[in-house]
Amino acid sequence: MAKYVCYSNGSERCLGRLYDEKVVPIASPIGLPGEDQMISLIRSGTTPTETAAAIPLSDIQLCAPIHQPSKNVICIGLNYHAHADEFSSSGYDTTTKADQPVPSHPIVFTKAPGSLTGARDDVNVPWGHTNEVDYEAELAVIIGKGGRHIQKEDAYNHVFGYSVINDVTARDLQRDHKQWFLGKSIDSFGPMGPAIVTADEIDPEDLELKCWVNGELRQSSNTRDLIFDIPTLISTISASMELSPGDIIATGTPKGVGIGFAPPRFLNSGDVVRVEISSIGAIENTIR
Ligand code: MG
Repeated sequence: MAKYVCYSNGSERCLGRLYDEKVVPIASPIGLPGEDQMISLIRSGTTPTETAAAIPLSDIQLCAPIHQPSKNVICIGLNYHAHADEFSSSGYDTTTKADQPVPSHPIVFTKAPGSLTGARDDVNVPWGHTNEVDYEAELAVIIGKGGRHIQKEDAYNHVFGYSVINDVTARDLQRDHKQWFLGKSIDSFGPMGPAIVTADEIDPEDLELKCWVNGELRQSSNTRDLIFDIPTLISTISASMELSPGDIIATGTPKGVGIGFAPPRFLNSGDVVRVEISSIGAIENTIR
C-alpha cells in the first residue's frame, strides 16, 4: 500500500509519498503535455523513485491530490439510506418525492474541478452569494485504468485508490437553481486528501467515515451502508462515458449533514470541519 500526496514547494506542485508524518519527494513520471502529475503517475502504472530526504508533513503545504481530472468530479447524491431520509424531509430536496426518498437509480451530478483544494486549505465562502453552507463527508474513488462499459465484476480492477473529500455545498443555491452544479462548484468547496491511498489492502466496503464540526461529531457511518456500491457506480457511469485515469467519484455522504437538523446547522466563518476515513486519513479545513 502506498499513499501519494501532491504538495507545493512554493513555486510548483510536486509529488511525494507519505509515510506516517513524513513526505518523501518522488520523481514525476513523464506524462502528456500539461497533464496533472498525479494522473501521469497513475497512468504510468509504476512505483516512482524517491528523490530526496523526507520532509515533515507539518512543513508541507498539501494540494488536492488531483487538480485536473479529465472531467468534472463525479458525485453521487443520496447514497446512504439515513441521509436520503434526512434530505428528503429537509425542504431542500427538489429531486425526490417525500414518500420515496431512496432513489431507484444512482443520482449522478458533478462538481467543477476548480472546487478542489488541499487537505488543510481554507474553504472560502462568498458570503451573501450563499449563507447556507453545509458539509458532506465522503469517500472518493480514484480511477486507475480507464474504460467504457465496465462490468460490475471487473470494476475494482479499474480503481487506483481512495481518498477523502468534503463535498461542501451551498444549500440555498442547490435548492434555488434546482440543478446542483452551482451550489456544489464554488471555488474551494472540494477539500480533498490528504493522500490517495492505493487500493491494495483497503476494503472499500468496510470503511469508517466520520465528520466533526469544531470537535463535535456530526456524521459517523460505514461504507457498507452505501445504497449503490462502488462497482454499481463505476458500471453505471462508464455505460455513459469513458472513465479515465485520475477521474474522481465522490460516493455520497451519510446522515448528519447540517440540513438534517431542525433548525438546520449551517457552517459559519471560523468553523473547522474535519473529515476522517479509516485506513485513508483525515482532512481539516477552516471556513472563511
Ligand atoms: Mg455529496
